[in-house]
Amino acid sequence: MTDALHVRPLAEREAISTVLPLVEIFETVEGEGMGAGYPTVFVRLFGCPLRCVWCDTKYSYPPYEAQLHLTVAEICERVNGFASTRICLTGGEPLLYGERSALLLRELAALPQIVDIHVETSGAIGLAPFVNGVASPKVRYIVDYKLPGSGEEARMDLPSLALLRPQDELKFVIASRADFDVARKVLEVHRPRCTILFSPVWGSAEPSELVEWMLAERLANVKLSLQIHKVIWDPDRRGV
Ligand code: SF4
Repeated sequence: MTDALHVRPLAEREAISTVLPLVEIFETVEGEGMGAGYPTVFVRLFGCPLRCVWCDTKYSYPPYEAQLHLTVAEICERVNGFASTRICLTGGEPLLYGERSALLLRELAALPQIVDIHVETSGAIGLAPFVNGVASPKVRYIVDYKLPGSGEEARMDLPSLALLRPQDELKFVIASRADFDVARKVLEVHRPRCTILFSPVWGSAEPSELVEWMLAERLANVKLSLQIHKVIWDPDRRGV
């Protein structure tokens, strides 16, 4: 037998050996955005460079610890164990690991049953290496633009807004009227081509008030997004 028979393709070897820290992998229905309501596998990576005031996943970065360390191949294996054909790659910040995050996206996109992978990213990581380096049309980006109420607006990577495509989403999580007004200005200045979502911070901004503001300001192409998992289950419950 020649050595060549023992050599696996490079991508396969990388997928087998590249390890990522994770919080959890579970199946539920997507709670927000354009995929809301679809059964979805959530792959939650560990770690985030931001510390948003209203963060509801504080267990995804220190002082908490990663719950799992899995290779890309092992993550794909776990995803294959579920019936869902949609994946939400989330965190924390799922793009924190650069080429390792890109490799994971490429391998998940190669799973034949998967029809959609949406990446929930913080807005602080430049999208260019991912939009340019992950070719699959299955992969979409959902940028959570951090408004002043988060305490992290200065960290937003503004050039990435121009890279968002029609299949992507730009979500503004709104805690107050001041946040709403900044979101409007961001849209006026950057004119993104993707779906625009306005989502009230759970417990801070009233959805009814947000709807009134949207209609009064004639924001005809902004979509209200509510976190339906917080309606279905206890808002603090994890793994749903
Ligand atoms: S970017 Fe997301 S995970 Fe990170 S602190 Fe903000 S809300 Fe939490």
